[in-house]
This record gives sequence, structure tokens and C-alpha cells, in this order.
Amino acid sequence: MIILKTVKDLTKQLEAYRDAGKTTGFVPTMGALHEGHLSLIREAKAKADITICSIFVNPTQFNDPEDFKKYPVTTGNDIELLLGENVDLLFLPSANEMYPKDLEKKVYPLGPLEMTLEGAHRPGHFQGVAQVIDRLVGIIQPTYMVMGQKDFQQVMIVRRLLALLKSKTALITGPTLREPSGLAKSSRNTRLTAQQLNQAAAIYQALLFGKETAGTIPIKELIQQMEQRLLKAGFAKVDYVAFYDPTNLSPLESYTKGTPAVILVAAFLGDVRLIDNITL
Ligand code: AMP
Repeated sequence: MIILKTVKDLTKQLEAYRDAGKTTGFVPTMGALHEGHLSLIREAKAKADITICSIFVNPTQFNDPEDFKKYPVTTGNDIELLLGENVDLLFLPSANEMYPKDLEKKVYPLGPLEMTLEGAHRPGHFQGVAQVIDRLVGIIQPTYMVMGQKDFQQVMIVRRLLALLKSKTALITGPTLREPSGLAKSSRNTRLTAQQLNQAAAIYQALLFGKETAGTIPIKELIQQMEQRLLKAGFAKVDYVAFYDPTNLSPLESYTKGTPAVILVAAFLGDVRLIDNITL
């Protein structure tokens, strides 16, 4: 695996791949890698000749400075995991490399998608996501980029961004990998105590309950019952339980079994904010 830290070195290596006619599959991450990330890398590997991963804890997408400070960094272990997956190239840039002083500052017209759920609770978050993905896709111009459904709204935002940029990169999504308890794997799980790890499984339990019960009781009641389950399990605060149209992330007023919907949850266990979702 080649490890590169500068845009200059990366660009040179990418030219070599392009000259050799290779397709590239790119998985952007913030590190503290787990099986969820590795499953995306396997998808990239299955699609493309060359697999590229980036690790960059992007400061501009953190609305909460404490969350940024506490974000786990496990680079040595990450490199071991990527070696185990036969990743071809790891891009490990510094913040100066990603955001040089002369880089054009853009405001991305992400539309109503940016105003709801994560966008509403984490002001500026998706502008930060758009900025880092714009930069990475601009440099790498991958044939494919693989992202996780775990971050359902992020996938929709990035799809819109790629359209705005008229990018040729094809976005592929991978399913959410879970612990045996149902808890979605997440880098932030490393900040949970053993007891909280048990309690955290309540998110998936609530989502399963929501999926099973949808269409039998009014949506408002369903959401209330899910929130109650989370609070009862020990969650300190529920940012949202949302029952949405998966095509445009607008709230569904009613639901008929068999039609598409997505239930999304964000909730705090102690000071750790967890998100998850399930599609119907
Ligand atoms: P992150 O490092 O948290 O920014 O995540 C990098 C990529 O991994 C994003 O596309 C996430 O959606 C994806 N991801 C995170 N957790 C999981 C998971 N449990 N299963 C599958 N993909 C995931």
C-alpha cells in the first residue's frame, strides 16, 4: 500500500493509474476504521482496478468543537486494517494540505436537504461535508466513490453535490454493518462505556419496532413511542425520530404498508451522539 500525504504526490500517482487505463474506487473516511468502513472498501475493490482510501478528520464538518477534539484517532491500527484489505493507496493529508490558504471558499446550494435532520441539528455540518468531498473528488476524480447508508442524509447530500459539480464519479452505497446487538458500527462507539454499549442497542430495537409497527398506528404516535423507548433505555436526549420520504427527506404524514419510507434517529447516550436509520 502506498501512503501519500501531499496533493502533489497523490496527483502524480493518480496520473500513473490513469495512464495505465485503471479505474479507481475511492472510500473517504475519518479513520478509527471498523468493519463498516472495510465493507465499503471491499465494495470498491470489487468494482475498480485500484482501491483508494482517505483518512482525514475534517474539522469543517464538526459543529461541536468538543466532538472534534474527542474524535478517536487510531492511525496505526487503521493502516494495519487497510493492509489486510490490500488497499492500493492511502491518502493521509494534513489540514493545511486539504485547505491551503488560497483555496476558493464556496457556499454549496444544497437546498432543503441541508435544512432538515442533521442539517438542522448540526449547523454548517453539510457545508463542511460538501467542502471536503468537493476537494477530495476534485483531486482524485475517482471512477467510483463508495459511502455508507448509515449516513443516509449524507449520501443524498453528496449525490446532489456530485450533480452540482457535474462530476463523472459514480456514487455507490453500502449497507450498514452492525454489532451482533444490532448497534450500527461507528467510530464514536469507542467512546461508550460497556454499559452504554448495551444501552445503545436500543436504537436498532426502536427502529425495528418502528418498521414493524408502521402503518398500524398514526406516525405521530409511532414517533412518540420510539422516543419513549430510547429514553427508557437510558438515552439522555433524543435529537429526532423522523419518519420520512426517502426520495426527498420530507416528513410523511401517513403511511401505507409496502410503500417506501425511511426512519431516522439521532440521540445522545451521555455526551456521545449516535445516528442510525432503517428503510421500509
Ligand atoms: P466516517 O469515517 O464516519 O466519516 O465514515 C466513512 C464512511 O463509512 C461513510 O460513508 C459512512 O457512511 C461509512 N460507515 C460508517 N459506519 C458504517 C457502518 N456501520 N456500516 C457501513 N458503512 C459505514
